[in-house]
Amino acid sequence: MGFKIAIDGPAGAGKSTIARRVAQRTGAIYVDTGAMYRAMALFLTRNGISADDAASIAVKCKKADISIRYEDGEQIVLLNGENVNAFLRTEEVSQMASKSSAVPEVRAHLLDLQKNLAEAYDVVMDGRDIGTVILPDAQVKIFLTASAEKRARRRCDELIQKGENVDYEEVLSEIRERDARDSGRETAPLTQAPDAVLVDSSDLSIEEVESAICDIVAKRKQSEKKEA
Ligand code: C5P
Repeated sequence: MGFKIAIDGPAGAGKSTIARRVAQRTGAIYVDTGAMYRAMALFLTRNGISADDAASIAVKCKKADISIRYEDGEQIVLLNGENVNAFLRTEEVSQMASKSSAVPEVRAHLLDLQKNLAEAYDVVMDGRDIGTVILPDAQVKIFLTASAEKRARRRCDELIQKGENVDYEEVLSEIRERDARDSGRETAPLTQAPDAVLVDSSDLSIEEVESAICDIVAKRKQSEKKEA
């Protein structure tokens, strides 16, 4: 088995930034599972399905062919053969992804893709259920979180940098809504695996979080060597 690092946590905790950096430092590939759920959401939106129509989502999701390719270390998500990376970060797609990801058929449809990537490569995979459902035997599991207020503040700063108009209270309430949906759903809810290390990034810089996680990885690799 290759070396697997699972990073779970709520929206806006910095998972993708950290996972990408840890992957670079450890020579693994970064697998962004949220992007897969977003590609599915894009497919459903393009097909005119309502985010609240779970029955239609359950049927239609089976028609989405989602796959992954890597170009210069960047994950490219293909939806029925089309590179859809440029369409995944809109608010409409975020809202649809948050709702459609609770539908068991959607999760089942994306499960093999995630497991197969982890079979083929050393991975740093981020998401909500990686340590609990997708890679229960990952050698390192991290639950990366931060207060909702800090996550909303970071998201606002990001949007302001992109030149967008933002309302902090609105962003905070969206984050709280997504937290509640991710943690409250029946299938694969967001929860810390019993053997995951909790990292609270509220008062830490990106560099501090990266080095804390890389230390955990290095220790685990050392102990594997000793055991071998
Ligand atoms: O991580 P990101 O915000 O891109 O994920 C988009 C949505 O996909 C999340 O709101 C979450 O509901 C869902 N998701 C999930 N399981 C994962 C990754 C993402 O349910 N492993």
